[in-house]
Amino acid sequence: MRRELPGQGASRGSALGRARVRLPHVLDVVEERVEDVAAELDRLHDAIRIVRAEMHGLRQRLHGALAQEVGEFLDLHALLLDDPELLHGLDDLIRDGHYTADYALRLQRNRIAGVFEGMDDPYLRSRIDDIDQVIGRIHAALHRDLGAPGVGGIAGEILVTDNVAPAELAQLQGQGVMAVVTTTGNPLSHTAILARSLHLPLVVGATGALQKINDGDVLAVDGGSGRVVVEPGAADLREHRARLRELARERKQLRRLRREPSRTLDGMDVKLWANAESREDVAEAHALGAAGVGLYRTEFLFLGSRELPDEEAQFRAYRDLVLGMTGRTVTIRTLDLGADKADRSGLVLENEPNPAMGLRGVRLSLARPALFDTQLRAIARASGYGPVRLLVPMVSAREEVVVVRARLDRVLGELRSAGQEVAEHIPVGAMIEVPAAAIALPAFIDALDFVSLGTNDLVQYLLAVDRNNDALADMYSPLHPAVLRLLYKVARTARARGKPVSVCGEMAGDALFAPLLLALGIEELSMHPGTLLEVRRAIRGSHLGELRARVPALMRARDRAGIEAWLQRQAPVAPGGD
Ligand code: PEP
Ligand code: MG
Repeated sequence: MRRELPGQGASRGSALGRARVRLPHVLDVVEERVEDVAAELDRLHDAIRIVRAEMHGLRQRLHGALAQEVGEFLDLHALLLDDPELLHGLDDLIRDGHYTADYALRLQRNRIAGVFEGMDDPYLRSRIDDIDQVIGRIHAALHRDLGAPGVGGIAGEILVTDNVAPAELAQLQGQGVMAVVTTTGNPLSHTAILARSLHLPLVVGATGALQKINDGDVLAVDGGSGRVVVEPGAADLREHRARLRELARERKQLRRLRREPSRTLDGMDVKLWANAESREDVAEAHALGAAGVGLYRTEFLFLGSRELPDEEAQFRAYRDLVLGMTGRTVTIRTLDLGADKADRSGLVLENEPNPAMGLRGVRLSLARPALFDTQLRAIARASGYGPVRLLVPMVSAREEVVVVRARLDRVLGELRSAGQEVAEHIPVGAMIEVPAAAIALPAFIDALDFVSLGTNDLVQYLLAVDRNNDALADMYSPLHPAVLRLLYKVARTARARGKPVSVCGEMAGDALFAPLLLALGIEELSMHPGTLLEVRRAIRGSHLGELRARVPALMRARDRAGIEAWLQRQAPVAPGGD
């Protein structure tokens, strides 16, 4: 029967496929017992066999860049799946306790979690995530309709789950997942950012999806509007096809803008940079005429692997980025691990009481000088191949910038003495994403070559609203008057000192906000290449002079509704490409 679930669109694209439901880590199953113990044991063993075959099949199909990263997960999961303690424990629970296989999984998971939680080593403690994934796979296999097509792999299916970690997303795409629907999450989370970068349709905040969608149901997912239709009818299928056609048409129209300047109606050129992490992003940024890379998040090099990348591995990644942009500037952000960007190497402290305000970003780099110097050396070496800027995340005080620059200068000096080719000067900029940095900017702008507004975090810290908390999703808005006033102030400070100022948070990639940012005095925007042409189109339909004249009205707006009304009063965006 047709059902419709509302969610939030987090990564555009339309997908039609069967659902693969993955239950949350802590299995929500009630205590139940069975009479026929032997049949229940068979049921469990069949499910384990299915999972083993699935994982084996997946391992065989992996190739290319994902093979190593994803292969590591799979090998570990295969080991866990064969672990006698896990398997015997499950058998014993069914045999002795007469529990259902589902409940035995829950008991066994909690028992193992108890052991892991007591471990001192944060890396080992974090292994419980892997146990959860393996138990989740077995649980899903217990409930799979064996007659359904698609069993044996997730390729071509739509994953429905509670949450997906950023590192897992690339793995899922490598497995051929068409789209992801999560019950929690936020369009501004790192998972969402990565989904857009991978062009993987994602709907977040689809509460109730786990109750209302069964494994094998057919879903029509629209990652733009956030609508999920279960068992779509003829009209839905027509709509899906129309959406695909519309997306293709829009892409064609937008493609005409590839070689056009990002120029307002009154002739002001806006610098559009790309936020790029993958090789594909870099190629796309280049092809779309991005000014350069405005944000390269180096933590993505650290997220997927249990080993910290060494200088050589980092150098190669940064050098290839520089080479990929053929002479256009690339902005490499130093490590911003922490909070929701937890790595698998144990570098980030576990169980911080308040990780968003904890040892993250530049604080972590400065607390680990050897690690930081390794990264600085790798970046400095890459600067021998083309123009590089260094961007420092989570800056909250002048001292941090001063120390970073001193370390960078020392590293550059050492490399020069060793005969390495490095740039004469590497501009140093700060992410303005902590309100203290925004407010105190006049006191330390002299120590910076450029600034980049990280609106994702700035909104979170300024409004005291967790960017990943879906219960507060409505409150998390860059259209709060406090946010706009602060953006305006930062832009004025930077411009008055002749320092370039850009926005590299998700706000910059939303064409709707382009007139607003231009009005506030921001003339550089950095976004995922997937949205660059839409933003270019919006700029080409904007008149800077008129927008600036309307800033006083914008600053008088007393609430979000007033700001939205201001935005709506802007001239409709002209097509600009035809
Ligand atoms: C930001 O905070 O706006 C930003 C660009 O950084 P990240 O999203 O990686 O925290
Ligand atoms: Mg940030």
